[in-house]
Formats: sequence, structure tokens, C-alpha cells
Amino acid sequence: MHDLVVRNASLPDGRCGIDILVKDGRICELGTALAVSGVPELNAEGNLLTAPFVDAHFHMDAVLSYGLPRINQSGTLLEGIALWGELKPALTQEALISRAIQYCEWAVAKGLLAIRSHVDICDDRLLAVEALLEVKKQVSPFLDLQLVAFPQDGLLRSPTAFSNLKRAIAMGVDVVGGIPHFERTMADGAESIRILCEFAAEQGLMVDMHCDESDDPLSRHIETLAFQAQRLGLQGRVAGSHLTSMHSMDNYYVSKLLPLMKESGIAAIANPLINITLQGRHDTYPKRRGMTRVPEMLSQGIPVAFGHDCVMDPWYSLGSGDMLEVANMGLHVAQMTSQAAMRQCFEAVTCNSAQILGLQGYGLEPGCNADFVILDAVSVIEALRLRPVRRYVVRRGQVICETPAVNARLSLAGRQIDVNFRQ
Ligand SMILES: [Zn+2]
Repeated sequence: MHDLVVRNASLPDGRCGIDILVKDGRICELGTALAVSGVPELNAEGNLLTAPFVDAHFHMDAVLSYGLPRINQSGTLLEGIALWGELKPALTQEALISRAIQYCEWAVAKGLLAIRSHVDICDDRLLAVEALLEVKKQVSPFLDLQLVAFPQDGLLRSPTAFSNLKRAIAMGVDVVGGIPHFERTMADGAESIRILCEFAAEQGLMVDMHCDESDDPLSRHIETLAFQAQRLGLQGRVAGSHLTSMHSMDNYYVSKLLPLMKESGIAAIANPLINITLQGRHDTYPKRRGMTRVPEMLSQGIPVAFGHDCVMDPWYSLGSGDMLEVANMGLHVAQMTSQAAMRQCFEAVTCNSAQILGLQGYGLEPGCNADFVILDAVSVIEALRLRPVRRYVVRRGQVICETPAVNARLSLAGRQIDVNFRQ
């Protein structure tokens, strides 16, 4: 018995009028006018059906804590870190769990069904680790939550960070994190990368470090991360998050760095909303954007994803879990406005992120999990333009969220006009 047949969907690759047949929670067939009957049907009405959105970089332990215990006045990364340090001792598991669950519900409503979240391990109680492992379990029927052990206060700066990180991994955290630019010196930063990559190689784990999140054109931790990934055979398992210093680096140096990154099999995760908000804060004019060199990396064949990073926390007061907002900002900031480049920005919040997270069964091919989102838009480009409602969110063949299409109604000179912003 089949679970579901979706009729008349448009796919991100441009195919139209596609039916998708689902059995046992997986996609079993795609084609036009599939001859099946007696199966529950969902009519996509020609709208875009995409594999779910995937957020490659998030902080779920801080989500929805905006204003606690106070607001970030300067708007800088460093005041955000200081503020998070003030909040940490007051955190409770109950509050962490309920804020994270609330955010996961928002995420599902936006068709965001997989999130890689960093979790700060510098609190010796590992309260946030315990809380997010519990959240991971609770949300697993509808959302894949992958956790990164993140030494927010610095692996070498914080005396218990490495032992806490090992404890977090032993408790079930998936990925090894780091923050080399926050160590005391460039040399300590490089040393932290060596220690963490060797640990990951030993344990067979993936690595995702906050790397060079500054405007310093001489920050070189991405070079070290690529070197260690290559030396330790970690190709395809290491991601550098943020990489904002690459925005400010010398062009000649970058021309050497990009092939090194490609050779090391490293992936890059930019966070457009946060990078453009936090970077360039010491500039007068012109002000740097701070986002890393996305089109240049893509043209070298380096996988690039976009992350949301923050939603209503010490670093960022906005956000709603909408990865189309992230992609939309990314394409503006990187000036990726050609049709092909806009599609790449859509991939940065879908398939590229899934690849970096190593998600199994992701995609729209037969055999993949029947996880998908039907949007109120006909194409990827229209979805980026409108950031429309997610009409249906489907997980393992079950509709788990439904949002009605909404049109505006004008009353003009006695006439009623429906406006839906479609061309
Ligand atoms: Zn981050």
C-alpha cells in the first residue's frame, strides 16, 4: 500500500507536471501522470516542491533569549559573547528546552527539517548539552538536529574546554567544533585546530569550526584548518563556518588559499544575515559587508552552505527560521543575481547544506526519504523573490504542516481585487 501521491509539482531543477509516489515513508516513483488510484492525493497545483530546507549553522542553546539579561548595545560579536557569558550561569534546562522546542516548531512551519546547531560546552555543568540532546530526541520524528560541541570561550583559553568537549561527544554530540580566532594568539588558534582535528580523526567525527569570524585580513585559521584536514585525511568531513576574514584578505593570498581549500575537501558555511550585521563594525565608510567569498569558492568547486546562525539571541534580534530569508540575503550580499547564481543560493540552504551535514536519504530521487516542502511559488527564483508560505510540509510521507495561501484583497473604487504578487 502506498502512503501518498503528490500530483502536478514543479521541481527545483525545472521539471514541471511531476507526480511523486510515496511508500513506507520513502519516494518510490517520480513521473508524469502516474497511474495510481486509491492512494491519498495531494495536489501541488503546479507549485514548487523541494527537498526540505537545511540550516547548516545555528545556535539553539541561545535561541529566543533576546534581551536576557540585557540587550547588546554595540551590536558587536564580542559584546554578544560577553552577554552570553552573563546569561550562561542563569540558564535552566527547562527554559533551554522550551525555547528550543518552540524554535523547532517555527522551523517545521517554514519547511526547515534539518539543523546543525552548535552547543556551548564551556559551562562545566554541560546543561545546554543535556538540554539539546533531550530536544534532539523529542524533535526527531519531525526534524533532524545535529549537534556540534562548541568551545565558545576558546579551547585553550578555557581550562576545562577540552575535557568538557570530550564529555559532550561521549554523551552523544555529533561534531567537533572550535573557535581558533578567539584563542589568545594566532599560534594558540592554530594549536587548537591541530588538537581538535586530531581528536576528530581519532574518533571518526566531522569537524565544523567557527573560523576567522573577524574583519582581520591577516587571520589565517582557514589555511591551518585546510592543512590539518588534508594532513589527517579528513576530506569531506570538515567545514569552516563564517570565514568572514576572507572578505578582507589580500586577493593574491586568496588565489593561493582557494585551491588549498579545494584540495583539502573542506566546505564553507557563510551566515549572511549575521555576517553583514556583525562585521564591519569598526569601519566608518566604506563599510565592509564581511561575508566570505561565496561565488569564488563555488567556482572552485568548494561546497558552500548558508546558515541562519542566530534567531533572537545576544547577537541578533530578528529571524524566524526562514531559510529563504537567509538565501535571499546571501544573494544580495554576494551580488549573486544571475539566474544560475540565484539557484546556487537556493542550493546553499537545501542540498549543499544536506551534503555538508552528511544527511542520509536526502533528496527527491526514488529511495530518498519522502520529506519535502510545497511552496506557494512556481520556481526557485519565485520562491527567493516572494519567500512565500509553505503550503505543505511533508515528513516521511505524512503532511506535518499546512498553511493556507494568502492573497491580499484590495477595495479600490468599488472593485475588489485579489493581489498575490505572482507575475
Ligand atoms: Zn555561529
